[in-house]
Amino acid sequence: MSERTDIAICGGGLAGLTLALQVKRRLPERRVTVFEPTRRPLPEACHKVGESSVEVGAHYFGAVLGLHDYMMERHLPKNGLRFFSGVPGAPIEARAEMGPREAPRVPAYQIDRGRFENDLRAWCVDAGVDLREGWGVRDVTLGEGVHTVSAVPVRGSREGEGAAAQLEARWVVDASGRRRLLAKKLGLQADLPAQSSSAWFRVSERVKVRELAGAAEGAWHERDVDDNRWLSTNHLCGTGYWVWLIPLGSGYTSVGIVAEESVHPYKGFSTEAAAREWLASHEPALAERLSGLDFADFIAMKGYRHGATQVFGERWALVGEAGIFVDPLYSPGSDMIGLGNSLTTELIAADLAGEDLEPRRAHYDAFFRDWAALLARTLCEGSRAMGRPEVLGAKLYWDYFYYWACMCPYFLRGHYREPLASHARFHDALRAFAALNDQAQRVFQAWIDVAPAEPGTAFVGLPAIATTLSDLHLALLEERDADETHAEMQRSLAQGRELVDELWLRAVRRAGPTRAAALVERIGWRPSPSDARLAADEAEPKRRRKLLSKPVRDMERSIGKNARAPGAPSLRELCASAPRVEAVAQSR
Ligand SMILES: Cc1cc2nc3c(=O)[nH]c(=O)nc-3n(C[C@H](O)[C@H](O)[C@H](O)COP(=O)(O)OP(=O)(O)OC[C@H]3O[C@@H](n4cnc5c(N)ncnc54)[C@H](O)[C@@H]3O)c2cc1C
Repeated sequence: MSERTDIAICGGGLAGLTLALQVKRRLPERRVTVFEPTRRPLPEACHKVGESSVEVGAHYFGAVLGLHDYMMERHLPKNGLRFFSGVPGAPIEARAEMGPREAPRVPAYQIDRGRFENDLRAWCVDAGVDLREGWGVRDVTLGEGVHTVSAVPVRGSREGEGAAAQLEARWVVDASGRRRLLAKKLGLQADLPAQSSSAWFRVSERVKVRELAGAAEGAWHERDVDDNRWLSTNHLCGTGYWVWLIPLGSGYTSVGIVAEESVHPYKGFSTEAAAREWLASHEPALAERLSGLDFADFIAMKGYRHGATQVFGERWALVGEAGIFVDPLYSPGSDMIGLGNSLTTELIAADLAGEDLEPRRAHYDAFFRDWAALLARTLCEGSRAMGRPEVLGAKLYWDYFYYWACMCPYFLRGHYREPLASHARFHDALRAFAALNDQAQRVFQAWIDVAPAEPGTAFVGLPAIATTLSDLHLALLEERDADETHAEMQRSLAQGRELVDELWLRAVRRAGPTRAAALVERIGWRPSPSDARLAADEAEPKRRRKLLSKPVRDMERSIGKNARAPGAPSLRELCASAPRVEAVAQSR
């Protein structure tokens, strides 16, 4: 006879364990069972990739699961994202640095995955979760009122001889990571564009970004007043690639290469020896720093990206990498776990309370996948901008802007728990940001081809304080009800339209009169800049400042001015020579 549970979770990695804890706390009287093939103790540092968190994922761990103090004690506070972009192989101090000048007030963490998953397993057991370590799920059969999970004992990395167990469950959640049990069984896999690959390893000591710069580079070192650059997720960037440096609470450093397949083929860094060689030719200072150090582990993954045509079904869900994984740039993996798990918890609670689930299921499914599509639009070709500092600075500004204006306030203020009718307006806002984002990403992709590799500025403060962007970030710490957040999003959308128009003007200025027409054809849309904006371009500095709107002025304070060089055509002249392509603009 089969055993019974209320919620069966297939996979006890980051997504499965955090979901088990969240559901058990929300519904303590319900039985939650997790099948996980591996057993404790898990190795510290060298367990899994996915160590850097950003605002949404960090809020999920810190506030939703209540682990902020634990994160600060056993892991590391994160000092934002930091990028070094310029001519490939150039010394780090000759590249543009883009990141926060001061430690951000909105928390995020650098996470040792082995340490975290050991602790999560213990907390799950303490909370009353039925955690079955050493058991792998072989099959899931979806049924009318009840699903059946077949699991087998696992010895080492293989399925053992023991008898299979059958478990009946009202809910089944696939959290099996890249095994993707349910997506494969139900044929829900989908491709995402422009594959990229990665290789990563850990070394058993701190590798600080300041060690890559010459000691004589006084001004560069002094910029890091509090000596906390190393707590950022540091990105060493070149065209089509970036290399991460992430410090871990266990004292190790995680290092990873991420590269677009069409620019840097996987086989160029797919073994430890190849990766060392690849680093020596692209990031020589880092290769030199690592030269005497053993890699504590080494893993390479070809084509890490995958989509799904559905993530929430009839009493089933795909969470974490069992569902969708877009890209590691900006560390959205934990964000997707945070939102995916939270919507799953809402669905389970609503179902067990007797609600007719279909409207909520369909709505959450569309919402989550629209967000994933927005991420894919932002990230899938993101690494192309890495070697063009002026484009990267502008892209980071825009990408942070819409993230802090849309998904962050929505999630950090708990609006995913709104009744369905109220939640729908956040879906509309998400779609509106996605339409704007599409325009912005078109600009970046075209701009890359006309922008220089040399940086025009040494430091881009992201966010510079106090600007529209830093205000948005700090506002995330404030409580707001759903009406207030929604009204705030509408204001941000209006500002966002101005910013996207300004990005277009910057790209056209960089292209100059001879290349502007081709660039605009490629972008595929054009704005109608206000007369004040065009007049500002022709005005004296003081009047120029008055004519520019606040969002545009604030963007200039972060990424530098979009000013006319002596003798160069004005924006008015450049706009007049650009072709009339309006297709995308109409979708705003
Ligand atoms: C190159 C790269 C860099 C990344 N960097 C970041 C980052 O900096 N920040 C971030 O947030 N995210 C990052 N990610 C994403 C991050 O790795 C994932 O978000 C996260 O690990 C997914 O957790 P998960 O629980 O879905 O999968 P996993 O943690 O892999 O867990 C899946 C679990 O399922 C178990 N399992 C497998 N088969 C079965 C079975 N048959 N039955 C039962 N259980 C099974 C496995 O043993 C495992 O424990 C990165 C991803 C890549 C590829």
